[in-house]
Amino acid sequence: MSRQIEFLHPEPLPRTGRVWPVFLPFAGCPYRCLFCAQDRQTGRDAATLREARDSLVRDLESALAAGHGPYELAFYGGTFTALPAPWPETFLALAARFRDAGLISRVRCSTRPDCADPASLARLRSLGLDMVELGVQSFDDQALAASGRGYGGETARQGCRAVREAGLALGIQLLPGLPGDRPGVFRRDAGIVAGLAPEIARLYPCLVIRGTGLASAWECGRYAPWTLERTRRELAAALPVLWAAGVRVVRVGLAPEGALERDILAGPWHPALGQSVRGLALLGLVEDAAKRLGQRPMRLNVPRRYQGELFGHGGELRGEYAALGLPQRAIRYADSAGFVLL
Ligand code: SF4
Repeated sequence: MSRQIEFLHPEPLPRTGRVWPVFLPFAGCPYRCLFCAQDRQTGRDAATLREARDSLVRDLESALAAGHGPYELAFYGGTFTALPAPWPETFLALAARFRDAGLISRVRCSTRPDCADPASLARLRSLGLDMVELGVQSFDDQALAASGRGYGGETARQGCRAVREAGLALGIQLLPGLPGDRPGVFRRDAGIVAGLAPEIARLYPCLVIRGTGLASAWECGRYAPWTLERTRRELAAALPVLWAAGVRVVRVGLAPEGALERDILAGPWHPALGQSVRGLALLGLVEDAAKRLGQRPMRLNVPRRYQGELFGHGGELRGEYAALGLPQRAIRYADSAGFVLL
């Protein structure tokens, strides 16, 4: 009798609902971090908070009048919990007003782990905040010190615990390949994130962006970014670890926004990095299944939702699948939940 292996993709199911991002570049940041170019990443200048609020009110009112929504309102690009008073309260009151009207379903913000003290998180939760995404970047003391983040790994962990203890959902952002990186640091960081089991994670491999302190370090040879190939391999190895812990990885690599592409001086940027990394992670799952099969596979049935990433970006993994015994003609796409290898 011919053998077959059935397996499910371990990625947690996506959450439905649209996110409405509100970018507040550098707002509340105690200083500008070595690698950060929020204005270029988001394509937004640092407008005053008053301008940001006024344009948000106009946009929310238009969306409400047009019958759009609901949305998850997300305050990104700065250190929301360290905004000067009364701005966190002002933005959350605004969100509450539109939540009452049915336009907003959830509110989240991004901040730094050293600006996430339990008392202020509890207060923001009482004002309507639901989720905090922490720009942890790394849990490694040496990488954090070399990147001038101003906190160590224990503070990063404590920030994550504080978000949880305040009853807020947690998101964690990592920046693999920071200054001070050594082999194994990102793998350990991914393991720590899996142990903390946040709702979501974002993985933004460190890039050298024009106008940052990191660009100066790179220009005089004091910093070398990861290669694209190393980035693909390291991130693809991390995804199954995070998925197995129930973590949704909602972003891999920076999206091409604004003038970003023109301002990237060096580093592992690719417009389809996420697809490439997810494809490589999926190849690893198929290789594991092939080992369990114990014979050369003849066919792979693939749930249709993975059709776009099976062979990676631009078919870059076709050779690997063929070497495994699975050329394109051996692949069948089906409206099924799981994979079948036989
Ligand atoms: S990395 Fe975060 S804390 Fe640092 S400057 Fe950028 S937005 Fe602010």
